[in-house]
Amino acid sequence: MADLIPSIALPRPSSDWALFLDVDGTLLDIAERPEEVVVPAALPVLLAELQRVFGGALALVSGRTIENLDQLFQPLTFAAAGEHGAEIRPSPDAPLTVYPPHQPTAALRAAIDRVGGAAEGLVVEQKRFGIAVHYRAFPAMRYPVQTGVEAVLRESGEPMELLAGKMVWELRSRGSTKGRAVARLMEAPPFHGRLPVFVGDDRTDVDGFLEVTRRGGAALPVGVVPMMTEMAFADPSAVRIWLATLPALIRDA
Ligand SMILES: [Mg+2]
Repeated sequence: MADLIPSIALPRPSSDWALFLDVDGTLLDIAERPEEVVVPAALPVLLAELQRVFGGALALVSGRTIENLDQLFQPLTFAAAGEHGAEIRPSPDAPLTVYPPHQPTAALRAAIDRVGGAAEGLVVEQKRFGIAVHYRAFPAMRYPVQTGVEAVLRESGEPMELLAGKMVWELRSRGSTKGRAVARLMEAPPFHGRLPVFVGDDRTDVDGFLEVTRRGGAALPVGVVPMMTEMAFADPSAVRIWLATLPALIRDA
């Protein structure tokens, strides 16, 4: 399916970029369960090098918490937006700023746990500001899970929205999007005044794509992304290869 949509030409890299990178499905191959992802040994070091190349303006923008991102890439840390922008850390050693959106109530969390308990192989991930139900181990559960979560959400009346991810349904507070994450990071150094480039693979990344496009930057979809008619990379390994070429391309420019 991935080769049915056209590829866009990659922009010529420049040291004045602010680079925003989604993690799962973009930097890392998606695993059956979020905790099973494998970080290639060379990746954290490469990201640290790119951080220098872009004057510190490189950020991970993920649905994961920043704490979880730090565990994945340890011992290195990066500027980051976690939980779709509910948490922002503008540089690796800066304190974390939280933009508290609505937090799901205990009642809603328990109800979603019950939906996830309906079948073997479903994984409910309770996050600070959201809840994800993964059905990768049981793809036939896509629509039953959707129906169940929608019913629970309607009943609860909580200000959250349901997003279709890859093999995951995500309940996200209406207050946080990756677009707002980019906007917040772009407000201050080292990001301010740079050309934003966003690489992502999923529906939640489209908000980031729209924000960087609005700012004259580049949106680079990985694989087939909902609402996008073109792709820039076939898969995460293509992204990693491209990232590895950037330092030399920028040096030679
Ligand atoms: Mg992703």
